[in-house]
Amino acid sequence: MAYVPSHIAGNARWLTDKQRELIERASVLGREKFAPRAAKFDREAVFPFENYADLREAGLLGVCVPEAYGGLGCDFATYVMIAAEIGRHCGTTALTWNMHVSSSMWSGFIADSLEMTPQQRADHERCRAVHYERIVQQGKVYAQSFSEGGSAAAGKAPWGTVARKVDGGYVVNGKKIFASLAGAADVYGVLCTLDVPGATQRDSMYLSIPADSPGIRVYGDWDPLGMRGTVSRNLEFKEVFVGDEARMMPEGLYFQAAVRYPHMFATLSPTYMGLAQAAYDFTVQYLRGEVPGMPPVMRRMYPTKQVAVAEMRVKLEQTRALFLQNARDAQVDPDRDTRMRLYAAHYTIMENANDLARLAIRTCGGQSMLKSLPLERIYRDSRCGALMLPWTAELCIDRLGRECLYEPGEKDEVIE
Ligand SMILES: Cc1cc2nc3c(=O)[nH]c(=O)nc-3n(C[C@H](O)[C@H](O)[C@H](O)COP(=O)(O)OP(=O)(O)OC[C@H]3O[C@@H](n4cnc5c(N)ncnc54)[C@H](O)[C@@H]3O)c2cc1C
Repeated sequence: MAYVPSHIAGNARWLTDKQRELIERASVLGREKFAPRAAKFDREAVFPFENYADLREAGLLGVCVPEAYGGLGCDFATYVMIAAEIGRHCGTTALTWNMHVSSSMWSGFIADSLEMTPQQRADHERCRAVHYERIVQQGKVYAQSFSEGGSAAAGKAPWGTVARKVDGGYVVNGKKIFASLAGAADVYGVLCTLDVPGATQRDSMYLSIPADSPGIRVYGDWDPLGMRGTVSRNLEFKEVFVGDEARMMPEGLYFQAAVRYPHMFATLSPTYMGLAQAAYDFTVQYLRGEVPGMPPVMRRMYPTKQVAVAEMRVKLEQTRALFLQNARDAQVDPDRDTRMRLYAAHYTIMENANDLARLAIRTCGGQSMLKSLPLERIYRDSRCGALMLPWTAELCIDRLGRECLYEPGEKDEVIE
């Protein structure tokens, strides 16, 4: 009897039928299509277009598009579990899919939970109908260009990319770094600042810019350590015009979302939950002599291996517990404890994924890290999680430390 990997949600019995069915849909794609292709995208550092054709056919591009607009209407918990299941088979596909899905999640159930005037709400319905039609009917793929290399992506300064209001739309100027799906997406979701005197973070805007708009340039090399198939090259916007319908959220709403719905930034970690599970699954299969392409040599009888794998399982279950708690916690205006648990969960998933991959290589040994096997790719991919803004591992610790020690509004006296 071969090893049967556990369900990404641990005990699948508490899931809804819809959740079970969609996770299984992703699992079949992952096992049968994404995992066998992953080495090629990694080796060549090219975008997984074939996987996107499969996601499109499976209806998964519209996973967080509301049902009223023809999508699957998934909530936060359902999305993160599907994303983790995809990450288990191909980190690159899960991470890029997250960038795509965030566009409909942020403009979808997150925007629905925020305050808007009736006019803003009506305008938002009109704009998002355009984007959802593109995603659901036309199968278009959205990227999410956030990072700029300065303090904006860490949430500490206004975006350097600027949108100037003109008749019928905006003109965008600026640069983005590390834009996953650069050159592959049909539309770039772009975080920018509305060009008004004395603009602050409150003037942030979330615009979507068709990739074939005049004035967009994709540039720079892409030969990184991990997540190589994300093709996260740089983008330049020079006097790029977009119509009013480019608004993914009404003016001013992105800031409200960032403050009131912090789980919106926690959608990066499910990919790494999947990688954590993959590192563990590989180790068990390896020690049982069941890794395809390897001689069926068993190593499970050595007590040191049993201790090592038990410690990995403990770490995996600790990670999953926080991951699932976080999935259930997501809501507008979470209380302070929930927010702190969110930082703790995000940090734990990002750090433990790489630690589990490290332990997997240490436990399995030299042959396990050959490029012919997936573990060394999992090791490299998992290294990337803790680096991702706005919540790098460092910034989660910064936020958590401050919130642990200061009640809202508290400041220290300045000692001269
Ligand atoms: C595989 C991959 C895919 C990515 N895809 C995307 C994408 O699709 N879209 C996108 O927008 N970005 C993406 N990113 C970028 C990512 O989110 C980060 O913006 C990028 O890795 C930051 O680069 P850096 O570490 O050089 O940043 P730096 O700004 O140099 O920050 C370095 C570290 O310093 C700390 N730091 C930074 N600013 C502050 C501050 N103000 N105060 C205190 N500490 C601070 C943080 O811990 C940070 O990790 C991707 C990154 C990777 C690795």
